[in-house]
Amino acid sequence: MLGFYASSLFNDSLITNDSEVLRLRTNLIRDRLESSSLDSLDFHQVVIKYDSLSHARITLIALSGKVIADSRENALNMDNHADRPEVIDALKKGFGVSQRYSFTLKEDFLYSAQPLKNGNGETVFIVRAGYPLTNVYKEEAYANTAIAIAVLFFSVIILVVGYIILKSALNPLIEIKEGANRYSKGDFSHKIFMQSENELKSIADSLNLMAKQLDERLDIIGEQSNLQQAVLESMNEGVLAVDYDERILLINKTAEEILGINDKTAHGKTLQEVIRISEIQKFFRKIIAEGNPHETEIILQHEKDKFLQITGTMLYDMDNHALGALVVFNDISNLKHLDTIKKDLVANVSHELKTPVTTIKGFIETLREGAINDPKNAERFLDIIAKHIERLNMIIDDLLILAKLEDRPDEIKLSEENIYPVLRSVIEDYEYKAKEKKITIEVKCDEKLQAKINKNLIEQAIGNLLDNAIKYSDKKTEIVVGAGIKNDNLVLSVNDSGYGISEEHIPRLFERFYRIDKGRSREEGGTGLGLAIVKHIVNAMNGIIEVDSTPGKGTDFTIKIPQNNT
Ligand code: ADP
Repeated sequence: MLGFYASSLFNDSLITNDSEVLRLRTNLIRDRLESSSLDSLDFHQVVIKYDSLSHARITLIALSGKVIADSRENALNMDNHADRPEVIDALKKGFGVSQRYSFTLKEDFLYSAQPLKNGNGETVFIVRAGYPLTNVYKEEAYANTAIAIAVLFFSVIILVVGYIILKSALNPLIEIKEGANRYSKGDFSHKIFMQSENELKSIADSLNLMAKQLDERLDIIGEQSNLQQAVLESMNEGVLAVDYDERILLINKTAEEILGINDKTAHGKTLQEVIRISEIQKFFRKIIAEGNPHETEIILQHEKDKFLQITGTMLYDMDNHALGALVVFNDISNLKHLDTIKKDLVANVSHELKTPVTTIKGFIETLREGAINDPKNAERFLDIIAKHIERLNMIIDDLLILAKLEDRPDEIKLSEENIYPVLRSVIEDYEYKAKEKKITIEVKCDEKLQAKINKNLIEQAIGNLLDNAIKYSDKKTEIVVGAGIKNDNLVLSVNDSGYGISEEHIPRLFERFYRIDKGRSREEGGTGLGLAIVKHIVNAMNGIIEVDSTPGKGTDFTIKIPQNNT
């Protein structure tokens, strides 16, 4: 714009200047002509002369507009000039200027015209000087080029300087914007640097401080949440919280396990979507509806019955506004199981004790009622009483052994022992019983075999197995007691060729008082506790016991005790 303005100003001043020069030239010509006698002049010569003097086209025009003489064109060929603006103005105002196209010379001209007076002061002609504008246009073109170059040059300078100034002004803002962007993405380690001391610096300082405080707070919140998470996840109890719309707010791993939830996206879903157990849904509803804590026990029937103790309460936020309900699940299946085992044990023990006690009581009554006076029968009755008392004694002994094993399995000490003598001493204890049935006992054991065992317990376990092998075998059969080391395990075995055990009894064989044929067991003096004791002994030494039996062919009991035991 400045360029356009400068150009038009320059062009105007050029024209004004040229007009003024032209006016001064017509003044001079006019004065010269007025001072000479007009009648004696050859107008054509005059205009040619002044043209060469002034470098301007000179025209003399009669008042009628007729061209009398022209320095560059034959006057006879020229139009009447009465209508030319400079001529009209010269006649009217004494001076006229005009810029236009000359149809005569086919060129733009700047004209200046003045009236010419004779000696009497009467206007007789109009003298006109014309200057071709082509020259002016050339000058204008030069000037415009120079202006355009100057404009371009300054524009470039202004752009460069402007860019530098704008950049230095915007840089702090960009830095702040980038910082704010990074903070919004959670990158609080970034720091906004501001060199200048102005308002932007104080904004940057405030943002840096805000980021630092946010970072610290988020750290604290993160730590607290991690701690809460760790506490929740390490709890043995299941924890489940829902809001008023029964949407899950929180569920820990134990709750997922107890309730059998595999949905990792349970959070935010409704209770109905995730847990299809109606008792639990009702329990939550009851707490939310009544606003009081509740406790109940429910049984979940999945693969195995699960006993759950559930305790629920309202859930409140920091401002004590109720959010929903919180329920804690306790899997008490093991407790219930132990409870059942205890009840069963008491029932079994009572039952086992009851039989001999009743028998003893019956025979004492019989003796009192007079049988005591019949020495032959009295002797027999006393034998029966003694036998049952012995049985009671055996049951009590076995129960005491079991109780001891259950009580302190950690205290069992292992030591390196020669196994062969241990097996021999057990066999000696039972040899008389085997002989009664003409059963032979063979030992298959390297005499130098040594292993880490608890001698007394192993004697008890092998004794029980050997006792059973004799009890549940026909006469004249054979029993093999073996020992050896296999895969870092001491392997002890008692194999008989007796009655055998059918498969359905094997899973329950080691339960207390479990007997396949109660009558035979009792007859043989069994308490039903022998294998339970063996199992406890083996467990106490971190070992396992296996049974392989074919009914009618015999039974193999194998004990494996790891030798890397401490
Ligand atoms: P019990 O005092 O009745 O022998 P155990 O616990 O020692 O009690 O054995 C449980 C039951 O397992 C026995 O009643 C018997 O029926 C069966 N049993 C144990 N050992 C053998 C065996 N070697 N052969 C056949 N049956 C056996």
